[in-house]
Amino acid sequence: MATEKNYGNPQLEDKLRDRYFYTEDSHPDFLADVEKIGRTIAHMCFQCGTCTGSCPSAPRSSYRIRLFVRRAVLGLEDEALTDPDLWLCTTCYSCTDRCPRDIAPTDVIMAMRNLAFKRDIVPRNFLKTAQLIYTTGHGVPNNDVNRAAREKLGLTRDPPTTHGYPEFIPGIQKILDYYKLKENADRILAEEGQ
Ligand code: SF4
Ligand code: SF4
Repeated sequence: MATEKNYGNPQLEDKLRDRYFYTEDSHPDFLADVEKIGRTIAHMCFQCGTCTGSCPSAPRSSYRIRLFVRRAVLGLEDEALTDPDLWLCTTCYSCTDRCPRDIAPTDVIMAMRNLAFKRDIVPRNFLKTAQLIYTTGHGVPNNDVNRAAREKLGLTRDPPTTHGYPEFIPGIQKILDYYKLKENADRILAEEGQ
């Protein structure tokens, strides 16, 4: 556990916080959870760096996939799940294509995002997308401008999806209700006044 200095000043506390990792900081269940959800052998990582070298997000941000795999192996749950960089992976799968250990770092990230969502740590756009899918069956629904454009192209105003066949929407809602996805999205957004 990090040493508490008790300066009595939250800003100073954060600036001078203990950055060493201690054995007690490690949650072994975290690695097990990540491997179970991601269905990948993260513990085989030997930190070669090929994943970060392949990553399109790395040159433009502080996001380092190799660091996240390391955090999984060391059980550093809080560091991984509270890091905003967790959401910068484009899921391009370049790291997975190239890892010499046959790990799927992309799926390590997807597992961590699942675990973060369970703690209500999730970017708002994901929640809005969940709401749209619930009501329309589409993450990006049709709109009147596109309907007019489709008409000009000789197409039906709505595509042959849940837009054209809304009777299938309750089936989608049943799936989302089972996982309480819409319920949680509504709650988190309401708590933030959105
Ligand atoms: S490419 Fe694979 S083995 Fe190399 S650091 Fe990334 S996850 Fe670990
Ligand atoms: S899948 Fe994610 S972590 Fe892997 S290379 Fe692509 S953006 Fe980077």
